[in-house]
Amino acid sequence: MFGFIKKALKRTVENIEESVEKKKKYATPEEIEELLIEADVEYDIVEKIVESLPSKVNRLQLKNDLLYLFKPAPAKQIDAKPFVELILGVNGAGKTTTIAKLAYLYKKEGKSVILGAADTFRAAAIEQLSRWAQRLDVPIVATKQGHDPSAVAYDTIKKAIAKDIDHVLIDTAGRLHTQSNLAEELKKIVRVCDKAMKGAPHRKLLILDGTQGNSAISQAEAFNDMVGVDGIIVTKLDGTAKGGALISISNKLQLPILYVGVGEGVEDLVPFDPNEYVDTILDAIFE
Ligand code: GDP
Ligand code: MG
Repeated sequence: MFGFIKKALKRTVENIEESVEKKKKYATPEEIEELLIEADVEYDIVEKIVESLPSKVNRLQLKNDLLYLFKPAPAKQIDAKPFVELILGVNGAGKTTTIAKLAYLYKKEGKSVILGAADTFRAAAIEQLSRWAQRLDVPIVATKQGHDPSAVAYDTIKKAIAKDIDHVLIDTAGRLHTQSNLAEELKKIVRVCDKAMKGAPHRKLLILDGTQGNSAISQAEAFNDMVGVDGIIVTKLDGTAKGGALISISNKLQLPILYVGVGEGVEDLVPFDPNEYVDTILDAIFE
């Protein structure tokens, strides 16, 4: 697994390295400010870190400060069978692709998986998920465009219970005619999941497009207000120089980043490790 985060942050690190003269033992607060801004960490967080720094900072000091930003974000652990996950996010964020990646991961762990195509707003979304189901050889519950997405979620969970399946992954729409329609629909899906199985959905995962940097924060706040979010997956880190936004996202939302997406293939999903992530950014200026 090691090295994947490095690959994901390649552009971010290159960007920083261009603006840094040479690698060093100590850095000044000004250099660190520049480092964090280049990495696209939100300015108020940069300010908070830089304010408290002495005039000479070594790698370990800064590492501890940065890791602290990820601290209040422990992942929620629940044991349930089936384990039901609702996948949220705006159109194009990478929901459907990430469902395929998660299904692949769970299958590799020897678990059984079923998909629910509850993004019934667009026919293309149902087709896309059905193609993944076929390629991954996992069952799927899908209806026609325009059908009730809650019914799809309900049927998927019931089928998982009947067939003794370990994981349920439910796709959702990222956009409806209005924002309040979307909020109502998502709330209803959550209620109906709980009807199909008490306590479901066990995790509501928000998919955020990493190329959008800090603007993903307002999206995350909106989804969190609608139905509550338990964890985040940041996609497309292979194509961005904005990797530092992960610090802002995790810190602002007080939510754990569980995985990052580093490509379009099913294997391109990596567990997120704050330690490795911070080291990769620090490698750009410190020896
Ligand atoms: P959805 O609308 O949220 O369901 O988004 P999709 O899953 O359809 O993804 C939108 C586009 O982003 C597709 O072309 C995906 O192949 C692409 N995509 C998703 N995740 C990643 C990733 O981690 N890296 C890259 N490079 N592309 C991704
Ligand atoms: Mg989709």
